Amino acid sequence: MSHIPYSHQNIDDDDIAAVTAVLRSEYLTQGPMVAQFEETFARRVGARHAVAMANATAALHVACLALGVTAGSRVWTSPNSFLASANCVLYCGGDIDFVDIDPVTRNMSVAALRAKLERAAGRGELPQVVIPVDFAGLPCDLREMRELADKYGFALLEDASHATGASYQGQPVGSDYADATAFSFHAVKIVTTAEGGVVTTRDAALAKRLRLLRSHGMTREPEDLQHEVEGPWVYEQQLLGYNYRLTDLQAALGWSQLKRLDALHAARVALADRYDMLLRDLPLLLPARVPDRVSAWHLYVVEIDGARTACRRATLFDALRRARIGANVHYIPIHTQPYYASLGFKRGDFPAAERYYARAITLPLFPAMTGEQQDFVVRTLTAALR
Ligand SMILES: *Cc1c(COP(=O)(O)O)cnc(C)c1O
Repeated sequence: MSHIPYSHQNIDDDDIAAVTAVLRSEYLTQGPMVAQFEETFARRVGARHAVAMANATAALHVACLALGVTAGSRVWTSPNSFLASANCVLYCGGDIDFVDIDPVTRNMSVAALRAKLERAAGRGELPQVVIPVDFAGLPCDLREMRELADKYGFALLEDASHATGASYQGQPVGSDYADATAFSFHAVKIVTTAEGGVVTTRDAALAKRLRLLRSHGMTREPEDLQHEVEGPWVYEQQLLGYNYRLTDLQAALGWSQLKRLDALHAARVALADRYDMLLRDLPLLLPARVPDRVSAWHLYVVEIDGARTACRRATLFDALRRARIGANVHYIPIHTQPYYASLGFKRGDFPAAERYYARAITLPLFPAMTGEQQDFVVRTLTAALR
């Protein structure tokens, strides 16, 4: 069996034609395709506004800024995430902290969040923003988090980098509950623009700030100009922004990919269902199924059940890699990274995330994965666990 990656982009002839058409057009950088991609994405996830960015890290950064994160602002996220979910706060000079995970969903625990909010309220140290993460594509507990956000007065910035196409209580992720939702279109994610991201929101004023922050804080919109207009060349910088623009080449790829989102998602769901069936008798804890939500199945992560096997994660990982299976591990808890240790975090701070991490392993899952490849992964796992 040739190498089986843990994830792989899905590019077809229509995608190539869409990108090629842009290469022959007037615009290469942000132009009409970006607007078209934003409109299509917004419609697809039921969002009022979608603002495309160079990547999801940029999307999270400017979403934090647009939500008012600044020096000294308190922001909380999940330790079981990619570094960007926490780094975005530090870019703004904010103080990052974490809320431990629910060991079943592997998402930020609502019980832990509630308890931490109660303690913080007593000390007058409530967070300004909370960034829950839809880990592996499973939507977090959005309704409960919205209630807590309203009660304690923080903004909810959902990191849905894994969750394009996921839904919660029948509503697409990105449409409701959160004040802003960030998605990633990195090559390993559900749909790709190679590098890219987007922020969705219901709030028109927030969307306007996001657009300003994306491009140097600059505007040419006549109705937004603050100074007297000297002529049609006038542009104004109104705040300190960045160059976080997506290109039309990337937007064309994303727009073309979105047409296949349902098919790509269905392929992931079928593979996840089949993994569930094939792995059910092995000493593994399988991903949670939560009845009121549909995962995007960005990742399929199993945990080794230490009560039923003596096999260690490292042993299993080596066996998979030796068989040329691209196993992976998501995620090393952010607070245990050397940089975060230098900020004062230490091992033991978020025990559920650490326990989960110690036994987690990500199995290959991508839309073009064949049944034969999946059977080979399962056979290799079975032999190693025996
Ligand atoms: C991929 C990812 C990001 C960052 O996405 P980029 O587009 O690569 O910047 C942020 N958060 C999570 C949870 C991710 O998986």
